[in-house]
Amino acid sequence: MNLHEYQAKKILQEYGIPMPAFAVASTVEEARKVAKDLKLEKAVIKIQVHAGGRGKAGGVKFAKSPAEIESYAKSLIGMKMVNRQTGPEGVVAEKVIISVPADITKEYYIGALIDRNRAVPVLIASPEGGVEIEEVAEKTPEKILTMPFSFDGKLRSYQLLRLTKFMGWTGDVAKQGAALAKNLARCFIEKDADLLEINPLVLTPQNEIIALDAKMSIDDNALFRQSEVVKLFDPTQISPQEAAAKKHDLAYIAMHGEIGCMVNGAGLAMATMDIIQLHGGAPANFLDVGGSATKEKVAEGFRIILSDPKVRAVLVNIFGGIMNCATIAEGVIHAAKELRISVPIVVRLEGTNVQEGRRLFAESHLKIASAESLETAAEMAVKAAKGG
Ligand code: ADP
Ligand code: MG
Repeated sequence: MNLHEYQAKKILQEYGIPMPAFAVASTVEEARKVAKDLKLEKAVIKIQVHAGGRGKAGGVKFAKSPAEIESYAKSLIGMKMVNRQTGPEGVVAEKVIISVPADITKEYYIGALIDRNRAVPVLIASPEGGVEIEEVAEKTPEKILTMPFSFDGKLRSYQLLRLTKFMGWTGDVAKQGAALAKNLARCFIEKDADLLEINPLVLTPQNEIIALDAKMSIDDNALFRQSEVVKLFDPTQISPQEAAAKKHDLAYIAMHGEIGCMVNGAGLAMATMDIIQLHGGAPANFLDVGGSATKEKVAEGFRIILSDPKVRAVLVNIFGGIMNCATIAEGVIHAAKELRISVPIVVRLEGTNVQEGRRLFAESHLKIASAESLETAAEMAVKAAKGG
């Protein structure tokens, strides 16, 4: 689950990480009030969206007067940002963060994430932070330190020494940097984060190390024990389909194609997407109804697929192992009748109780084409989506 910068910053403040004062606003009036309350003459205003790269996308503005704070708030609230991280649909900013501007001597990068190959948390740091960090990683990877650390979230002295040396920090700056890194690692583990980054972390002319940006994402599988974090969920940052799927505990990922897919099991879902592509189509989504879905859950999944206006055909591909084919048929038929659907549906059923599932479809009086193999099912769905 992704957090906004302002939410991540509040958490980092609880861990003693220093940063300039800030507040959030959802309207121009609120922005005016923030400027007044914080007595701001100048300010940095940034859109709050679940994606990075805001600076380059025009989502970070430097206001030089209270009037400019208001006018930037006006242009940034409601701004839609589109970049590589958001996908072609983009994301809309409902809020902006307004912060006291900092004087910057140097920008650094520091973060923590899970290295899935080594199965350990790692601290990542670079003396070349800021908006060009991707380029640094690509062109000069030697300027990035990657250091595994313990699951107890405690950085050891030798690790802190290695970090401060790598960053070029000495004296009091090294002390501040080490303390900050320690708190960051502890926060990362205690909050069950799978990503926590501060970019830029900056050195000011007063020799202070402070955080100017924060990005944090929490492991979804740990949300059951992060009740405070769960409250920070912002449904405006995901598609209505993804929000509905989350509510019904369905594994759904929106994609950019035109064939809606209802499949059971992640492996079969991947294979289905591959074979659709092989036949010249593109999947509109990835929906895994799992092994134990009820008729109601199947119907809900079907409703979600059909609520996506991009969908021109639906492919239902079920291999009933634990899943009962009749349950799938009942759910799909129920939703299809209720929604009076107009898009063609191709169904391929195999496995447990398949005869009953096929009979239900055949007697449903719905225009459903059934296919014997996955190959033909994919071909038929691609043809149907193209209006064939
Ligand atoms: P993003 O990473 O999404 O582009 P950032 O919050 O990192 O957004 O902002 C981009 C750049 O704007 C930073 O690298 C920094 O140079 C500058 N910046 C951000 N916040 C402040 C601030 N409070 N004071 C001064 N400069 C800032
Ligand atoms: Mg940043």
